[in-house]
Amino acid sequence: MSRLSEYKGEINELINSLLAILQAQERSPEEVNRVKNAYEIANSAHKEQIRKSGHPYIIHPLNVAIILANLSVDIPTLCAALLHDVLEDTEVSSEELIEMLGTEVCELVKGVTKLSKFTFLSKREEQAENFRKFFLAIAQDVRVVLIKLADRMHNMQTLEYLPEYKQQETAKETMEIFAPLANRFGLNFFKWRLEDLSFKFLEPESYEQIHSMVNENRSYRENYLNGLKEALEEKIKEHQMLAEVTGRVKHFYSIHNKIKRIGSDDIFDLLAIRVIVEKERHCYEVLGIVHDLFQPLPGRFKDYVALPKSNMYQSLHTTVIGPEKRLVEIQIRTQDMHNIAEFGLAAHWKYKELGKSVSALSKYDARLSSLKQKLIEMQDEIPDADEYKKAIQIDIFTDEIFVFTPKGDLFCLPRGSTPIDFAYHVHSKVGDHCVGAKINERIGTLQNKLKNGDILEIITNKNSHPSMDWLGFVQSSSTRSKIKQWFKKNRSDEYIKYGQSIASESLTKSTYEEFLKTGVLRKLSEQMGLNSENEIFFRIGTGEISGKQLIGRLKNLGYLQKEVIEEEKESTIEEIQKPIRTKKFAKGSVAELKSFVHTFAKCCQPIPKEDIKGVISVGRGIVIHRTDCLNIQNLDNKRLIDISWDGTDESTQKFAVTLDIEFIDRIGITRDILDKIANEKINVLDVRGSRKTNKQIALLKISVEISGYECMHKLIKTISDMSDVIHVQRYSAPISKRGKK
Ligand code: MN
Repeated sequence: MSRLSEYKGEINELINSLLAILQAQERSPEEVNRVKNAYEIANSAHKEQIRKSGHPYIIHPLNVAIILANLSVDIPTLCAALLHDVLEDTEVSSEELIEMLGTEVCELVKGVTKLSKFTFLSKREEQAENFRKFFLAIAQDVRVVLIKLADRMHNMQTLEYLPEYKQQETAKETMEIFAPLANRFGLNFFKWRLEDLSFKFLEPESYEQIHSMVNENRSYRENYLNGLKEALEEKIKEHQMLAEVTGRVKHFYSIHNKIKRIGSDDIFDLLAIRVIVEKERHCYEVLGIVHDLFQPLPGRFKDYVALPKSNMYQSLHTTVIGPEKRLVEIQIRTQDMHNIAEFGLAAHWKYKELGKSVSALSKYDARLSSLKQKLIEMQDEIPDADEYKKAIQIDIFTDEIFVFTPKGDLFCLPRGSTPIDFAYHVHSKVGDHCVGAKINERIGTLQNKLKNGDILEIITNKNSHPSMDWLGFVQSSSTRSKIKQWFKKNRSDEYIKYGQSIASESLTKSTYEEFLKTGVLRKLSEQMGLNSENEIFFRIGTGEISGKQLIGRLKNLGYLQKEVIEEEKESTIEEIQKPIRTKKFAKGSVAELKSFVHTFAKCCQPIPKEDIKGVISVGRGIVIHRTDCLNIQNLDNKRLIDISWDGTDESTQKFAVTLDIEFIDRIGITRDILDKIANEKINVLDVRGSRKTNKQIALLKISVEISGYECMHKLIKTISDMSDVIHVQRYSAPISKRGKK
């Protein structure tokens, strides 16, 4: 109690300044009463709680509310700011909050509380970005972000009262998470202040240096800027425009960065002027005036008015050479643009628009999406690729959710993930022994779909192991493969048995038994670099080696192949046909043809997924053509066999394809086309010199090595999309003499 009375004066002062701000903003008596009511509830809830600084707790929410009141936020936001810590730190329940102040305020407080549960201590860039995304995903109401940032700002302002390790931790978190977050929302007001406050604790020496640098030259600098300001104001007046010209000192952290970047510590690099004009077109007129008065520095003009930044920032930037050859940075913008630059979305939460906030927001959304559209269209013209990327990335993380461990470690998982996905994401061992999960401190099932912000505790038992059923509901393919891995490692007996049965089915019973007896399989396992015969069966069991591949391997070793080789010596159509026409290969696949001499026809260059036919040709075994190849249209049916691809071809071999490319000739085009092909990581086998068909148009014949159908079509599309390319098609050979036979 003694403390409360000691600070009574200070508390009253804070209340009065909060009320004074509301009065200046002409808020209605009802609105003021709602805020007063919220204060009373907060005050009695925090009762005798004391902050680390020794101050009564209520001083903190009061300061947070004042920061926000100055930004003209709406009344529910102010009420929630006053109550932002009551759910977390006091006895007040959310039901009571709803009863006293309504669901809107309660939802805001709940949002802030949810965010406070997590410590955002980040170790890596990537993690920091995850936190920002998480923040955006979980704080669906922008007002929650505003309250959280104001909360953080006041905590930073009172950081000196905390122990040093805590100061460093909090300052680092602010610099890495909260300042970039403010930037993402276009809340420069918070960004700059949070950066400077953190900077002071993270690099106290640099901070002091800049502080004294700025102070030393203060009077000289102010005189200089005043002179400039007057000159500018006079000219603007002559042109019959209204403008507010202010000299400003950049914030310390940006000066620090600039010094680090360009190594200059000339205090006059810090000269900056801002001109606020009435209308958008005045921006350009004032720019003209500025450039008439002072010589602009080439390459420093930026037009963010016509091309706003992704966070909607708009302004003209220019740097001119002022009197005494000092460089001065000048920003020109309207009041609206200025509001957005300082307060971003918050600019839309001005109390005067109360009740219109929804339409203000949808206006913002519409503007944002049209901005995105514009950015996509203007992709090539945007000099800053990062800016462009940010603009279109806003929506990307809708496929992801963010969940935490009880310790506050953040994990990013695909939407639809289950506790099992989470467990395997943490570590395979956690996944392998997972028996249950606590979701937000309650027991949940392993099938539960996780939500953004869930806090997850996995319950493990070292005697427990994965179940095949899990494969039915886990979300990510990496989880699935980790579960399978466990079975491979720990259930090898079953796989070996299964592999043996596949092998015995693939081979005839007698050959299989003979192989086992004569040690052929041992030889095979040695040749394949495997440790044992069992490993062959294990791999067959897991599907890594198919029955067909086993046969192929055995043939390569010289078994099973004798009869085929003997047949080929004969080299008559009938003789070659015999093994092919046997039941097994009558409608065989290319993979099954491996034991026969076969080649791909050069005239039509078939690739997987295209319809093909085999042509039995004397001396060349089987030649595979595309079904539509002109060279096989008139062939005797006896020489044709039906074959198809079986899907294994694409992964195991490369196919040659020749493309005819027709394009408008210019210097360097061939190189450009080859660059595109190289970018696709495709090997070029041959380039035939371009031949001009008339003055402008040329033809190029390029042979490439592709992995399959999709790869070829992607390449054709890539080349077709080049601006000078007219047409790309598969090369088709004229009918050969041989084919006509
Ligand atoms: Mn707080």
